[in-house]
Amino acid sequence: MNNPFENAMSQLDKAAKIMNLDKNIHEILKQPDRILTVAVPVKMDNGEVKVFTGFRSQFNDALGPYKGGIRYHHNVSLDEVKALSFWMMVKCATVNIPMGGGKGGIIVNSKELSQGELERMSRGYIQKIWRNVGAQIDVPAPDMYTTPTIMGWMQDEFEKLLGHADPGFITGKAIKDGGSEGRETATAQGGVYVVRELAKKLGLKPNETTVAVQGMGNVGGFMAKILASDGYKIVAISDSKGGVYNEAGIDIAKAEQIKKDGGMLGCYCLGTVCSLEQMPKDGPCKHVSNEEILELPVDILVPAALENQITADNAHKIKAKVVVEMANGPTTPEADEILKERGIILVPDVLANAGGVTVSYFEWDQNVKNERWTEADVFAKLEPIMIQAFNEVWETKEKYNITMREGAFVKAIERVASKMKNKLSS
Ligand code: NAD
Repeated sequence: MNNPFENAMSQLDKAAKIMNLDKNIHEILKQPDRILTVAVPVKMDNGEVKVFTGFRSQFNDALGPYKGGIRYHHNVSLDEVKALSFWMMVKCATVNIPMGGGKGGIIVNSKELSQGELERMSRGYIQKIWRNVGAQIDVPAPDMYTTPTIMGWMQDEFEKLLGHADPGFITGKAIKDGGSEGRETATAQGGVYVVRELAKKLGLKPNETTVAVQGMGNVGGFMAKILASDGYKIVAISDSKGGVYNEAGIDIAKAEQIKKDGGMLGCYCLGTVCSLEQMPKDGPCKHVSNEEILELPVDILVPAALENQITADNAHKIKAKVVVEMANGPTTPEADEILKERGIILVPDVLANAGGVTVSYFEWDQNVKNERWTEADVFAKLEPIMIQAFNEVWETKEKYNITMREGAFVKAIERVASKMKNKLSS
């Protein structure tokens, strides 16, 4: 697989060429403003000390404090963290929120740690980075294998070291610790606002539009439910064990009940828990694999699970007219080119799933102002941001005759560059 930072930089170069970016600004954007690499010693339950390596990449803060999650994974690498911090800069700038791009991570398989070890490691990471983060400097959040509980430990450790409260230091906290209402559904809700705008542009009518959702987790699950309540026909859904395709449409609540009862989604066709062998493999309602769900004859395909799902191997088999990237990085750069050549419209992750970071920004905003908003307040503020971002990306795509992904990068980098010019000239 390509180096993620090289991928990120080739996207930067492409956007720079389209928009004729100032070459000094381009030069500055080729690396993060600051990278922290820290050793985090943790006293394990057996009394031995183990040292974990952690990173924080602060890519660019022209638009506001660095913003981005902290991931715990054994595959975390500096190049990955740097790339993710660049993409966070692009995402925040695409939806025009006053935040920059950052990302952090620790190389660890957190499932192998006890709760106590996990807490000591999380607090130890903050002890190493605290002088370079804070509500007005760099605002972390959860990412893969980090949770609201972990954010609560980090917030507590940070305030202890600082000597006073700084409630906006970290987002993704539990509601009782200052988290925001609406965060759980924000990413999916933001994606739905984008789909509604796209439907207007393409003349799609919900009740005549079929949708397949790969990954019925937090994002995919809520997305399927909200789209279904808009009248869209959800014909296929999947999770890590595979999925189901029903030409007549899927009742999401019934499918979730089958899962709760211990069945796989493919059992939906039988209406009861069953074995893999018993699931129909043919006919109007059938079991589909996670590869097959991507290639179904639907109008809208929503990858909402993992990265690198649409690749050079399957991009020419995609039958959907539109791909809405709710997962981060589900399409490889090679597949992107194939979809472009085939005229398939792709709504990029930096726009489609930016409802999540937008509500994280709302959490920060509430914390620094000492306010508490209702869920209705949150969505009333989210909707116009997503609608405006969609239309600006669309206009940029039309202006330069480029893809929506290229349009989002150009629009985002225009914003960052314009603010950087003010800084450079002072
Ligand atoms: P999640 O853990 O809640 O759900 C992931 C889902 O994917 C689960 O249903 C799992 O069963 C399924 N899955 C796992 N492997 C699969 C496979 N091979 N094929 C199909 N499905 C598979 O995660 P989530 O929070 O819903 O995040 C999903 C994606 O959205 C990730 O790429 C994440 O980075 C991105 N994202 C999430 C948020 C957010 O607010 N949660 C924000 C922005 C982007």
